[in-house]
Amino acid sequence: MSHTTNATKRNQTVTVHLHDPLPAGETTTLTLYFTGLLNDSMAGFYRSSFTDPSGQKHFLAVSQMEPTDARRAFPCFDESALKSTFSITLIAAKHLTCLSNMDIKSIQPTHQPDKKKVLFNTTPKMSTYFVAFLVGELTVLETTIYRIPVRLFATIGTDLTRLGSFALELTARTLAFYDEQFDNPFPLPKMDIVAVPDFVGAMENWGLVIYREADLLLDLETSPVTSKQRVVLLVQHELAHQWFGNLVTMEYWDGLWLNEGFATWMAWYACNAFYPEWGVWQMYVAEKLQRGLSLDGLRSSHPIQVPLRGEDEIGQIFDDISYAKGACVLPMIAGALGEEVFLDGVRLYLRRHAYGNATTEDLWAALTEASGQNVGAMMHAWTRKPGFPVLTVTEDETMNTIHVRQTRFLATGDLKPGEDGTIYPVSLGLRTTEGITTDLMLTTREGTFPIPDLNFFKLNANHTGFYRTAYSPHRLKQLGEAAAQRFLPVEDRVGLIADATALAAAGHQHTPDILSLLTTLKHEHEYIVWKQILTSIATMHAAWLHDPSIQTALLAFENDLTIDEHDSHITRQFKALLFNRAVLTGDKIAQQAADNMFTAFRTGQRSAIHPDLRATVFEHALLKGGESEYNTILEEFRTAPTSDDRITALAALGYARDPHLVHRTTCVLLSDEVRLQDIHVPMTTLRTHPNGVEALWTWITDNWDVVKERLSSGLVVLTMVVGLCTSGFSTEEQRDKVEAFFRERGTEGFDRAVGQSLDEIRMKARWVERDGEEVGRWLEGRGGNRAGGGWG
Ligand SMILES: [Zn+2]
Repeated sequence: MSHTTNATKRNQTVTVHLHDPLPAGETTTLTLYFTGLLNDSMAGFYRSSFTDPSGQKHFLAVSQMEPTDARRAFPCFDESALKSTFSITLIAAKHLTCLSNMDIKSIQPTHQPDKKKVLFNTTPKMSTYFVAFLVGELTVLETTIYRIPVRLFATIGTDLTRLGSFALELTARTLAFYDEQFDNPFPLPKMDIVAVPDFVGAMENWGLVIYREADLLLDLETSPVTSKQRVVLLVQHELAHQWFGNLVTMEYWDGLWLNEGFATWMAWYACNAFYPEWGVWQMYVAEKLQRGLSLDGLRSSHPIQVPLRGEDEIGQIFDDISYAKGACVLPMIAGALGEEVFLDGVRLYLRRHAYGNATTEDLWAALTEASGQNVGAMMHAWTRKPGFPVLTVTEDETMNTIHVRQTRFLATGDLKPGEDGTIYPVSLGLRTTEGITTDLMLTTREGTFPIPDLNFFKLNANHTGFYRTAYSPHRLKQLGEAAAQRFLPVEDRVGLIADATALAAAGHQHTPDILSLLTTLKHEHEYIVWKQILTSIATMHAAWLHDPSIQTALLAFENDLTIDEHDSHITRQFKALLFNRAVLTGDKIAQQAADNMFTAFRTGQRSAIHPDLRATVFEHALLKGGESEYNTILEEFRTAPTSDDRITALAALGYARDPHLVHRTTCVLLSDEVRLQDIHVPMTTLRTHPNGVEALWTWITDNWDVVKERLSSGLVVLTMVVGLCTSGFSTEEQRDKVEAFFRERGTEGFDRAVGQSLDEIRMKARWVERDGEEVGRWLEGRGGNRAGGGWG
């Protein structure tokens, strides 16, 4: 039939105009002939490369469609709501492995003798963004412990028995676990997981999950324990997506939290079932919850059900609001309904929308049906509005009551009239001498509640609620003492410190009160509580980065807190953390030990540095040393045997502070040596010192056109890089500089990142201005510069 075809680049669409009308009631087939470019920008169908041990370079063809890049690979209705079946055929050289979502139906010859034609079975109905195919020289490891084949692929030359067994078995066991939990067996005939050299994070393609090498390949004997934990959580996250995302898909990207929130939460749930001794829910309070609260406490935050203004905004919402706040909202509901009822609702939701799409309202409907409670009414403010409340608690001793008032929390502490219109339904989770009361709700601006004994109470038991609580100085002190005597569980101790720090930064509580609280907790013995204590101090280091006397005094304060010979029962992680702070806060014995390890390492004894301590030893060597130490670590980055080791070395380079070395580090950023997905690694360490913060700004402004060009194909990376290069600043003048620069050049596609940076800078500037003198006095009062610092 005669026709004309127009392609519009701006709308990313093709329009086919038929010159004659189609006959009514008949089926018509549209056949599109197209070619595509195997690009180098990690989007759509792209080219990745690796060098084998003999130095020969090989290429791989890999796909990454989420969110809207399937259209780069083939013409399609590239919308999550328009599901279809896919019959994929790949033609490739005979020695290459060809993979796709489904298993192979047949392999046929082609008219070229060195090529083969691989036909895959037709998929079930699915969205375009998790269609996948991959071609390359791969090696494989297979397990049959699950009811369908599970295979792990990596580039040839990889020792899969040593590096792949852990992730492979974990994948098989997790699939079996989810089959049972969801009461809905994984529907595809096989599961392949692949480790590729060039990849941003991981992608949950149905039946063909792709990871970057460092996130999947693990040598249990030489890897730090943190790598094992990262692999477990990531694998269980991607596998949860096989149900939340692939089987039931969000209607549109404004419902991304349904995918990411559920997958994040399920990963913690599964990890807790597999490794109960890891205390993952404690880590959850310390990490995910805090990450969600800090981002959502900025004025530039967005609701987790985010209204999108266009396609270019989709990349930006793959952030911690969708991931972390999304995941934190779910335990709040589970807490209110009871875990079993909650899971019943989830199973109903999966059954009802399998092979289809769903909205947040569909989830509320299923949970409401399973529980008989109006879940939508309880949750709307949490998912449709940005932010969360701070509950200010006052006490009335004559009446034995507490008064609780909610206002929106802003990290910058400058709430304006009109910004406090949302009332969040808050479960108070009241902990008293009589235990925990779960059914107390604050559904209005303020309320008064009786307390059995005012000597002991705390809100937000176990910190399952997504809010912060501000107490009077007297109550905070009492709670600190209760925490020191272990009357509060680990979750509450972590949450109490995190809340007090954020509230001090925002001006709701006094900063010296948090320093006193940390002193009270000096004899704490849990790793995760210590981690939170040190995070709090690090937050202060970042705000007072340009004040050398406060920096020195804080290090001395920290040294007093952390070095205690009577500690026992410490885990590997705890030891590594203590070693890190001992070396960097100036402990002579620990520094001598670090020096010895580095010297031995330079003579070729790799095992001289325990893997858990490697990052710290490198950091110390760079703070203390010069060009020669720098060159050793740069060489380690270039030649280390595993990508985990290379990334540790790359991260360490950012710690060098000599301007010449800082310049060398920024020069590496855009070189061929750093893969696009790792560009942020040295940036996060450059941000820890003033020279690095300045250098990042100089780097991004000098190279803006190149940076924008190179990174804009994946807006996620550009957004992250813009944030890292700007948010290290801490004064209003620097803030103005950032604002002016981007005002001139436009921020289309990454305006949220700029907004978040501007908010963060203002928060620090206001905090220092408000509390600077008081903090100086407090630290002075305990002996000031006594111990001397070790920050190079
Ligand atoms: Zn995900």
